[in-house]
Amino acid sequence: MKAKAIALLSGGLDSTLATFLVKEQRIELEAINFITVFCNCTSKNSTCLSSQKAANQMGVKLKVFNITEEYLRVIKKPKYGYGKNMNPCIDCRIFMFKIAKQYMQETGAGFIVTGEVLGERPMSQRMDAIKIIERESGLGGLILRPLSARLFPPTVPEKAGIIDRKKLLSLSGRSRKPQLRLAKEIGINDYPCPSGGCLLTDQNFSIRLKDLMTHDNLNVENAQLLKIGRHFRLSKTARLIVGRNDGENKTLASFFRNSDIILRCENFAGSTALLKGDINDEIINLSAMITTYFSKGKQEEKVSVLYANYGCSDEFIIKVKPIERDRLSVYKIGG
Ligand code: SF4
Repeated sequence: MKAKAIALLSGGLDSTLATFLVKEQRIELEAINFITVFCNCTSKNSTCLSSQKAANQMGVKLKVFNITEEYLRVIKKPKYGYGKNMNPCIDCRIFMFKIAKQYMQETGAGFIVTGEVLGERPMSQRMDAIKIIERESGLGGLILRPLSARLFPPTVPEKAGIIDRKKLLSLSGRSRKPQLRLAKEIGINDYPCPSGGCLLTDQNFSIRLKDLMTHDNLNVENAQLLKIGRHFRLSKTARLIVGRNDGENKTLASFFRNSDIILRCENFAGSTALLKGDINDEIINLSAMITTYFSKGKQEEKVSVLYANYGCSDEFIIKVKPIERDRLSVYKIGG
């Protein structure tokens, strides 16, 4: 077996420590990182800044896989179900390990290194889940978990004498104190995503995602939109997204597409709103009422709202009474 490994490096504390411990054993290492539209620590969805930083600090080459497109299939129908929110952690890990396995074979590496800690995460780091993930990814005996290694049977690289098991740890459970101590000892003090940056574990985001999957098509663009603004379900086929600040107003405008309608108040500063789906006069009226609620005119009796169809330079005006708070909450998706 070759003394070369592929480390799964999220940039969080655990994977950074695991990579460090293996590097200490003079193993040739490459790191890989997976990004999806559901990561909330990426720069414009292109690079995970924390994993790049960790890789740079340790002098390890990093390869980033943007897996959003294929990952959506995992989210739609996870064989092992979801966790507390819309996180399909077991299927997610299997999917990522399969990609890691392929990369391991392509680069001539002999095994995989991860920062998993037995019992730390309720869904994917239980012993039974770990066994399933290892079996389904076809990596039996080839996943080294330096932080918990001594709680598992020896892996192939340990048996081959490439890895010294005595230098590995036996951490388990949710306390992160041992990791923090170790990080201090070895001088790692910058780990921006200590508990992961996955929006699928976020309750509010998961409510939006579930709503989208119930009523609409989950594709990359729709998934990106879930990260922006306040969301309102106006009918089975229509939803309104309202920007929360200037940046989101501009971003929403960049998602303006065929058959969408964009709205803003004529005489008051406020949010931009994007209306998507099957649209009729009643839905436009309701959208305008919601748009005014997020403007400086929300206390007025009547407010003029400008709206436009995609590809049409004309703007139309509609005068509406701002929606009341109680009624607004009926349409709100998530908190
Ligand atoms: S928390 Fe998110 S990224 Fe991590 S295993 Fe679960 S679904 Fe995958």
